[in-house]
Amino acid sequence: MAGQIVILLGPPGAGKGTQARMLEERHGLVQLSTGDMLRAAVKAGTPAGLAAKAVMEAGGLVSDEIVLAILQERMAQPDVAKGAILDGFPRTAVQAAALDQLLAGIGGRVGAAISLDVDDAAMVQRVAGRYTCAGCGEGWHDSFKQPEKAGTCDKCGGTEFTRRADDNETTVRGRLDAYHAQTAPLIAHYDALGLLSRVDAMQDIAAVARDLERIVAETTAGA
Ligand code: ADP
Ligand code: ADP
Ligand code: ZN
Repeated sequence: MAGQIVILLGPPGAGKGTQARMLEERHGLVQLSTGDMLRAAVKAGTPAGLAAKAVMEAGGLVSDEIVLAILQERMAQPDVAKGAILDGFPRTAVQAAALDQLLAGIGGRVGAAISLDVDDAAMVQRVAGRYTCAGCGEGWHDSFKQPEKAGTCDKCGGTEFTRRADDNETTVRGRLDAYHAQTAPLIAHYDALGLLSRVDAMQDIAAVARDLERIVAETTAGA
């Protein structure tokens, strides 16, 4: 593969998934969310899913081994060749090093790492109000991103929605702690490599999207 890899860094609720889906539509980059992959594994009852379930419910980080195995399998699929947006990966220094190794083996490289900067206090509200269309996976919010017609997904017309078990106040606080302890240090790591951009993700969804658009356009132009 020769495609660009764009990494979205940010705590739970920062808007990684929302923005990754928008970038996917506009740039043909594939959204790779390790959270979505792990939830699918839990639902399917695979050995990885069984091992990950309790850790996810408690708001901890799933082991690097499990996450890397899942990501590696996904990255081997042909649609990733055009490039990918990593949403929720890497989350540890070990994962960042493994990503470089994985990319070296397939001729890819990290084109940009973008930190979505937000206040912790606002994140609890973002996560607690989040829900997802069961039909198409579109993300919604009780206050900040409501469908045009209440109860119906604008994207697909679906009327069934899900809320994540780990999107409660107690678990979110634990997930924020995990972010600061293990993931936030990656901001300095990518900065040292000259790959880091920062976006004020306290802005509304459209303004964040405009900032990201500019960065990704520059990255893909330089590819
Ligand atoms: P993440 O993937 O980083 O955990 P999401 O993209 O799922 O975050 O966003 C969390 C929730 O906040 C969702 O319900 C989403 O609709 C909403 N949201 C995303 N970005 C913003 C924003 N800039 N302002 C207000 N709400 C947002
Ligand atoms: P959010 O963006 O709201 O933090 P995710 O969907 O990215 O949520 O992740 C949900 C949960 O899945 C995390 O709390 C963690 O338990 C697990 N997880 C997802 N990605 C990783 C990863 N790269 N490494 C370890 N655990 C992960
Ligand atoms: Zn939908």
